[in-house]
Amino acid sequence: MQSDTKNYVASVYEEAVRRSPGEPEFHQALHEVLDSIVPVLAQHPEYERAGILERLVEPERQVMFRVPWQDDSGLVRVNRGYRVQFNSALGPYKGGLRFHSSVNLGIMKFLGFEQIFKNALTGQGIGGGKGGSDFDPHGLGDAEVMRFCQSWMTEAYRHLGDYTDVPAGDIGVGTREIGYLFGQYRRIANRHEAGVLTGKGIGWGGAQVRTEATGYGAVYFLKSMLETRGESVEGKTAIISGSGNVATYAIEKLHQLGARALTASDSTGYVIDSEGIDVALLKQVKEVERLRISAYADRRSSARFVAQGRVWETPGDIAIPAATQNELGSDDAAALIRNGVVAVVEGANMPCTPDAVELFQESSVLFAPGKAANAGGVATSALEMAQNASRENWDFESSEARLRDIICQIHDAAFDAAERYGAPGDYVVGANAAAFVRVADAMLAQGII
Ligand code: NDP
Repeated sequence: MQSDTKNYVASVYEEAVRRSPGEPEFHQALHEVLDSIVPVLAQHPEYERAGILERLVEPERQVMFRVPWQDDSGLVRVNRGYRVQFNSALGPYKGGLRFHSSVNLGIMKFLGFEQIFKNALTGQGIGGGKGGSDFDPHGLGDAEVMRFCQSWMTEAYRHLGDYTDVPAGDIGVGTREIGYLFGQYRRIANRHEAGVLTGKGIGWGGAQVRTEATGYGAVYFLKSMLETRGESVEGKTAIISGSGNVATYAIEKLHQLGARALTASDSTGYVIDSEGIDVALLKQVKEVERLRISAYADRRSSARFVAQGRVWETPGDIAIPAATQNELGSDDAAALIRNGVVAVVEGANMPCTPDAVELFQESSVLFAPGKAANAGGVATSALEMAQNASRENWDFESSEARLRDIICQIHDAAFDAAERYGAPGDYVVGANAAAFVRVADAMLAQGII
């Protein structure tokens, strides 16, 4: 039975790849999910009869559009905008916007596909989507970023809405960009529809803890994982990549729980701080002044900047890749294992390559896949939507308590599902299986659409 199911799953994968050539990140995400749900499909033949997989791998809608804008010198520039609306069986499409020069349709589809399962894991009523542009905000002024955001929204607004599709931030999109996007939506739609975007500023519809949620959530997930082996976060050292939203708040929470984060990075290199990363300085350099990471080392005597080399060669107990996809390969995994890493938590989406994940699992390193470990951001976005709908504002403490509960539930659901489907301790199988069943059951109930 399992071998028939394996053949069936392989045929769905091959057909999806044939129809979407040249999208390696999407193929990688498909492979990871499909591979790990074979035992689920073997136990549920009704999913195969209803063509759940064939429908799930095809986005419900994909929008691509021209985004023209004018830079400060008067030059007209043109980028490409995207919104991939992957699956709405559980609720309105929900997922961030990425502004980065590397963005293409395959990357949007990988992120949108992953988002379906991540959102299902939160237990909330949110479907999966993703969007963005190949726009690169580095080095641009506020007015240029505003004009770009306005142009993006002028096309995208017709596809969005608080009951239709609700974007948030991702790489290159923070509160500043969400503000410009929201302003333009409000102007065009003539509606103060607060729930159309999440990650808004506190004071104009934003929720407490949304900024911190992804990084904090990743550390709560780490805490739950370590507890299954009778260990705690306290006293551990951590190696972190990235210096944006996820990395910064993962470091902050690690420090609050008594661990010490030694590194942070960006696309120019990384810093090692023997005293532990100073979060206030990191925020000042990256969030406020928008400088490169070397400026951190310039201002702190215990830190040094490394332009060449890999952050993963630094010894530490914990690794949290929090920059981008496929940033941690098998050589990096081998270096971390050699240096005694006990747990790896994906703060970013798919930052570890498949062979790196395999090495961690073979070496009994606790490994948390991004769709489970970084779900705190979208979970808190759904809480923002709930507050917008009820016109309430919850305080920081109760919002953080909800985030903590949701992450604990995700951890336990993934842990239990891994046992149920014959892969104890494998959070990849557990997270994919638990999420898939929730989405598949909703699709089954709603007919062939
Ligand atoms: P930010 O834009 O705030 O920060 C991204 C960081 O990663 C920056 O330090 C950036 O450096 C670095 N980075 C980005 N691309 C590359 C690259 N190609 N090579 C090297 N470094 C790179 O993004 P976030 O912190 O929001 O997102 C980080 C990751 O977390 C992404 O994978 C995102 O999808 C994921 N994620 C984010 C969530 C959120 O709530 N924000 C929710 C769930 C997942 P530089 O400035 O030099 O580009």
